[in-house]
Amino acid sequence: MTGQETTNPSSTAEKHEFSAEVGRLLDLVVHSLYSEREIFLRELVANAADATDRRRFEALTDGARALPEDAKIRINPDKDARLLTITDDGTGMSKDELVSNLGTIARSGTRAFGKELEGAKPEDKPNLIGQFGVGFYAAFMVADRVEVVSRRAGSDEGWKWTSDGKGAYELAPATREKPGTDITLHIKEDADEFLDSWRLQEIIRKWADHIAWPVTIVKDGEESPANEGTALWRKPKNEVTEEQLNEFYRHVSHNFDTPWATLQWRAEGTIEFSALLFIPGSRPFEFGDPARESKIRLHVRRMFITDDAALLPAWMRFVQGVVDTEDLPLNVSREMLQATPVLARIRKAVTGRVLSELKKRSADNAEFLKFWENFGAVMKEGIWEDAEHRTELAGLARFRSSALTVDAENPESGWTTLGDYISRMKPEQEAIYYLTGDNEDAVANSPQLEGFRARGLEVLLLSEPVDSFWPDRLTSFESKTLRSVTQGAADLEKFAVEGEAATGEAADMDILLPALKEALGSEVSDVRGTDRLVSSAVVLAASENGPDLQLQKLMRRSGQ
Ligand code: ADP
Ligand code: MG
Repeated sequence: MTGQETTNPSSTAEKHEFSAEVGRLLDLVVHSLYSEREIFLRELVANAADATDRRRFEALTDGARALPEDAKIRINPDKDARLLTITDDGTGMSKDELVSNLGTIARSGTRAFGKELEGAKPEDKPNLIGQFGVGFYAAFMVADRVEVVSRRAGSDEGWKWTSDGKGAYELAPATREKPGTDITLHIKEDADEFLDSWRLQEIIRKWADHIAWPVTIVKDGEESPANEGTALWRKPKNEVTEEQLNEFYRHVSHNFDTPWATLQWRAEGTIEFSALLFIPGSRPFEFGDPARESKIRLHVRRMFITDDAALLPAWMRFVQGVVDTEDLPLNVSREMLQATPVLARIRKAVTGRVLSELKKRSADNAEFLKFWENFGAVMKEGIWEDAEHRTELAGLARFRSSALTVDAENPESGWTTLGDYISRMKPEQEAIYYLTGDNEDAVANSPQLEGFRARGLEVLLLSEPVDSFWPDRLTSFESKTLRSVTQGAADLEKFAVEGEAATGEAADMDILLPALKEALGSEVSDVRGTDRLVSSAVVLAASENGPDLQLQKLMRRSGQ
């Protein structure tokens, strides 16, 4: 859909195609929605606020980018011209940034949304769009043409980006008096409501009240404040509604569910900070985030500083939210953030608080399992890498087990803690047995379990990749060692076989073993008789002191 008339006749106007992904997303966004169109304003105001935050931070190291005193976000509807303009004093975008930020899909969340939307049934689409942000492209839900005029802070050059959202966009030089961005929407015939100041005000109240920069709406030539802008996390708890908290959660986390836990508190004493943290109620789409970093936002006296300060350990990276402190200067630099002991103290306090919340909530097993099914695998990384919290984390962990059945009707009954396992151990049993493998079914049906089942010995069934690592570090819990069933002759002799299996007939090992050994040659290091099997004929075992079988498999895969 190229080759359309240009609106900007400047001889230097350039035509660009959207990346294929953007084209598809735009098509979906424009054609699948009507009910939740108002969220376009939330998306554009959020972008304006992000850009203003970024400029403030950049100005710390580059005075030429300083923010004006009265930095704000201005929403200006013009009924007669059918235009709606959102103006900010943020970083602005250079020509290259316009191309990469608005011409391709940079944000992973938007990409995930596109995939989800493509697969959805038509009747579910409007709902999905209500739940998810769609970023800048949401503008095309209400506009048939969008113009972006932007000037990068620190530069004199302005650029204008224009598109009708149908496959291509245009770039042309433009003038803008100050750095910042204007987004002008040519409002569609059927979207009159978004030219009405009262309606716009209502949308801001609903979606963007927590934006920390002033948001104004122009009405009859007068600008009036549209948001409260009080940092929600600094308000006394009883002045904040659950709805405001949930909306703020969606804003900071880019999630669209309701949080499983909301923690709001103020620390006073040696360090002072306010925190508002959330544990998501569902697993975000692209949670496998290879960065493995906590993205908790650090503010100093309300001002956003960075989300890179690793305020929580990597194994708590599912926690979202804000920490706001008075104990750092407003102009704190990146170097200073790395050196200051203040952050280490905040980190310790915040980690402790989240952990104690998890412990408290673990008393309600059914509730806790909702959390565990989403983020248990990440918590287990902590057992591996965090010596300080290892035992506490192991105490919270939930496991599948050979003694329990997974029942959809009664999900709680399919999980055990290490403590509960220990309470079911046989009197003469010394170790906590576990088996690791690639998936739940394979582990639950493994022949490795036969000998244990036959003797009434319970085995923990571990099937997540991280399960190949943490048992090596935990080694014991409440002074019971952890022992993989694949590691050597698993001290089964001292337990009597129970029930039917006890009456089976054994093969003559004196003849069988030497014959097998000869046949397999150097493929194996040894062939032994075993107590571990009851009905299967053979099983692979790891040597007594070597790595567990699953770990060997992973090491082979990564070329070790
Ligand atoms: P996201 O905000 O999640 O990154 P969007 O689709 O909303 O995704 O925006 C894409 C990118 O475009 C932003 O990351 C930002 O770099 C840029 N951008 C959008 N609006 C503005 C703005 N008003 N000022 C500066 N940059 C902007
Ligand atoms: Mg955005």
